[in-house]
Amino acid sequence: MPAGPVEDLLALLASARAQGRGVLALTGAGMSTASGIPDYRGPTGSQRKGSPMRYAEFLHDPEGRRRYWARSYVGWWQIATARPNPAHAAVADLQRAGAVGALVTQNVDGLHQAAGSQRVLELHGTLARVVCLDCGAVVPRDQLDRRLRAANPGFAEAAEGVADQLRVNPDGDVDLPEDLVAGFVVVACPVCEVGVLKPDVVYFGEPVPKDRVERAYDLLELAPALLVLGSSLTVMSGYRFVRAAVRRGQPVAVVTDGATRADGDPVLKVAAPVQELLPQLVRRLEAQPSDDGGLAAVPAQR
Ligand SMILES: [Zn+2]
Repeated sequence: MPAGPVEDLLALLASARAQGRGVLALTGAGMSTASGIPDYRGPTGSQRKGSPMRYAEFLHDPEGRRRYWARSYVGWWQIATARPNPAHAAVADLQRAGAVGALVTQNVDGLHQAAGSQRVLELHGTLARVVCLDCGAVVPRDQLDRRLRAANPGFAEAAEGVADQLRVNPDGDVDLPEDLVAGFVVVACPVCEVGVLKPDVVYFGEPVPKDRVERAYDLLELAPALLVLGSSLTVMSGYRFVRAAVRRGQPVAVVTDGATRADGDPVLKVAAPVQELLPQLVRRLEAQPSDDGGLAAVPAQR
């Protein structure tokens, strides 16, 4: 068996499975590109039109919020109907096999859970929920979608008329013509009836809630290694876990298609699309005898 990063990664996973302590997986937008949700920081990322919604703009600019909700109303359908791809299925398989433990995901699309993964910490929140910035009520996104549809008859059809020009972004945002956006009616919180609603996701420029970050660090501390999947680690909210693991001497492996911020760090890098590599790893791990105290779980040649 030739030595190489894939063999080393396989050995890392087999060893985690043998120890009964799965590695912590940190997943990013590259996991969902094969589900039709583009990664605007990855290989095709330069194609994202416009900049993502920033937190300050959402809080202080009613027109910015109108634009956000209009685009998001159109983009939601694509997020809500996206299906898990072989990469999500493979991660769920690796969890069931005990090679992967908990997941910390930067994605807000819910596709890990849809694929059957357990113990998923959604670092940047989820598009499936909406929060009221005034009273704190949490509302399912589906329910809001029905209210937005009632408040905006014909809007979805009008957006469909320009559908060939539309592209959904990983945050559920879609680029829409401004004249269409101008007529969009935003609805208020159904509980307090006045509050501003915001998707339960962490925006650019918004800090990740502290307790969530601490839970992620706790998970990292318990894990034998960190496995980054489908992330270019562009944002510090994900990259800091790589730094912490390296500082502590924990092994770090990165599987992603393209360059990452950790390329200069002492990490095991496998440059490959996750939806191709992960199912291969699952098959090869399954083919290896599972450990029952013997030597089989650790490959003899490295
Ligand atoms: Zn409210």
